[in-house]
Amino acid sequence: MPEPGLVEDYHPATASQRHFPASIELWDETLRDGEQAPGVHFSPEEKLRIAELLSDIGVGVVNAGIPVVSREEAEAVRRVAHAGLKTKVLAAARTVPRDVEAVVDSGVTHIAIFVAASEVHLRYKLKMTQEEVLAASLASVRRAKEAGLHTAFVTEDTVRAPFDFVERLYTAVQDAGADRLVVADTVGIMTPLTFRWYLTEFVRRVRPKDLSVHCHNDFGLATANTITAVECGARAPHVCVNGLGERAGNAALEEVVLGLESLYGVRTGVDTRRLFELSRLVEELSGVPIGVNKALVGYNAFSHEAGIHTHGILANTLTYEPLQPGAIGRERQLILGKHTGRAAVVEKLKERGATASDPILAQLLERIKLEGEARSKDELRRFLDEYRSIFERPGLSDAEFWAMVEAAGIRTVTA
Ligand code: MN
Repeated sequence: MPEPGLVEDYHPATASQRHFPASIELWDETLRDGEQAPGVHFSPEEKLRIAELLSDIGVGVVNAGIPVVSREEAEAVRRVAHAGLKTKVLAAARTVPRDVEAVVDSGVTHIAIFVAASEVHLRYKLKMTQEEVLAASLASVRRAKEAGLHTAFVTEDTVRAPFDFVERLYTAVQDAGADRLVVADTVGIMTPLTFRWYLTEFVRRVRPKDLSVHCHNDFGLATANTITAVECGARAPHVCVNGLGERAGNAALEEVVLGLESLYGVRTGVDTRRLFELSRLVEELSGVPIGVNKALVGYNAFSHEAGIHTHGILANTLTYEPLQPGAIGRERQLILGKHTGRAAVVEKLKERGATASDPILAQLLERIKLEGEARSKDELRRFLDEYRSIFERPGLSDAEFWAMVEAAGIRTVTA
């Protein structure tokens, strides 16, 4: 089987523009940001199962959650922290003393302390001044360091905050002992070129000892921006399995890993052959189906129907596949339908040691195409109706909410 080449093999001139870190420590957020996706919740057992697989396949850091959220969440974090995993286990805290103490009590070795940085977040959400944010951040970082935790500092909405404040805040927390600085594109407004400029400027002004990024997929750019960040030296990029996360989600773990490994030959420490298994586990436990045409792990990602493509694939898979499906534990599929060509039929016949003359082949092909075009979509429509009724409105229903309101004795004005 041919091995696809690196980007360098095609475009060697671009290599000098990349400054990959000496090593990557992938930071998974599936159990935190991923769980914050609408309608998603993991039990402590489910969190542990996902964390175990993340650890087994070589993910560097796993964010197990925010212990202050609930008793069950604290229990989940504790269980992951004490499971003896190879991966480093992290928990998150706002710059609030009880949040930080809950992380200290959970038994993790790593903490991520977060606060917002942009003016819109400070004014309308936190109702804090920059000075107050700075003071709370310093106090939290100092407490975490005193407790002996590896401390990452994150600001929400970093990239929409005034750069002077970002510089002052991050410099101060790093001086106070923060081990890793995380730049967050919380609403996904960066593009690769803009993010490249931003991070270059951030590195010049703040000089982070260890840089990380958190990218969202609101414009479908999370993976591209995350890979750009790694090209700029970010060592511990945040990722979520299947791109799970708030709204349109985060950078997908499998995309960032394969992007780095397969396009650049950068090792991420991850056993890529188990990525599909991981993807399926998270699909099942989160209840969020993987999109059919999702990169790498979608059903269609290694399927071919069109005659020209199938013909090419059968001659040499490099014609229409940038990587071997086996690289992530998958198999290639040749689909029979309206667009099928002769080569696919010949190949299918071979499975049972059969051959056919040209006229018979032509006849068979004609029947396959006719059948492909005539396929009923009734079953699909029924499935879609059900799928939409489930996913258009996840979480509790309005009826459930109003029943609770009534039970709580709250009087409402309109029916
Ligand atoms: Mn996020």
